[in-house]
Amino acid sequence: MELTVQDVAAWIETSNEKIQANKEYLTTLDQAIGDGDHGINMARGFQEATKKIAEQTYTSSAAVLQDTAMTLMSKVGGASGPLFGTAFLKLSTALKGSEPVDYKTFAGGLEEAVNGIKQRGKATEGEKTLLDVWSQLAAYFNRETGFDGEKMAEEAKSAMEQTKEMTATKGRASYFKERSIGHIDPGSASSSYIFEALADVIKG
Ligand code: ADP
Ligand code: MG
Ligand code: MG
Repeated sequence: MELTVQDVAAWIETSNEKIQANKEYLTTLDQAIGDGDHGINMARGFQEATKKIAEQTYTSSAAVLQDTAMTLMSKVGGASGPLFGTAFLKLSTALKGSEPVDYKTFAGGLEEAVNGIKQRGKATEGEKTLLDVWSQLAAYFNRETGFDGEKMAEEAKSAMEQTKEMTATKGRASYFKERSIGHIDPGSASSSYIFEALADVIKG
């Protein structure tokens, strides 16, 4: 299968639904190893992105993702806003001119998103950040050859859970040092919802 512009719009809407439904949980995670605003930040940003997308008729997936990126960058705030913004912007750029979006192009776009997060956050894998989920998903996509909703959702959940045993060395959670162990990284949890939302769209 390939992703249509409607699929991509549905991806953002479904991400928003999952984030709204788990807003309190994301806040609880950020209360443990941060400042407790991650649920509020993400709920605000995705609500605005969904609203923006609903107001317009799009002819390209890249345009949907570009508007998403810009909205997340300006509305999420905190450390995570510019990082999610960068991820969606890199993905948008990689998808330009591909309509509908084929699997390989999407997989390549995720790799670009990962490079963008790394640059922007000066982060690398294993530092207990949202990069850990994006990176594991990009690797999964580039290993496989076609969209599989079930596997994708499993991969996202496992990537998120793996952050639990990591020691945070970036962002606010790094102030907790070893005490960050035993807690799931909030940004990884919200990233997992984003990929679970894509999985839902693919499962149809
Ligand atoms: P803030 O920490 O400013 O309150 P949020 O609570 O919205 O921002 O987001 C925190 C999340 O941002 C963390 O859980 C982590 O996943 C991610 N994060 C923070 N700093 C970095 C970084 N340098 N690189 C990648 N991700 C980061
Ligand atoms: Mg926070
Ligand atoms: Mg904050």
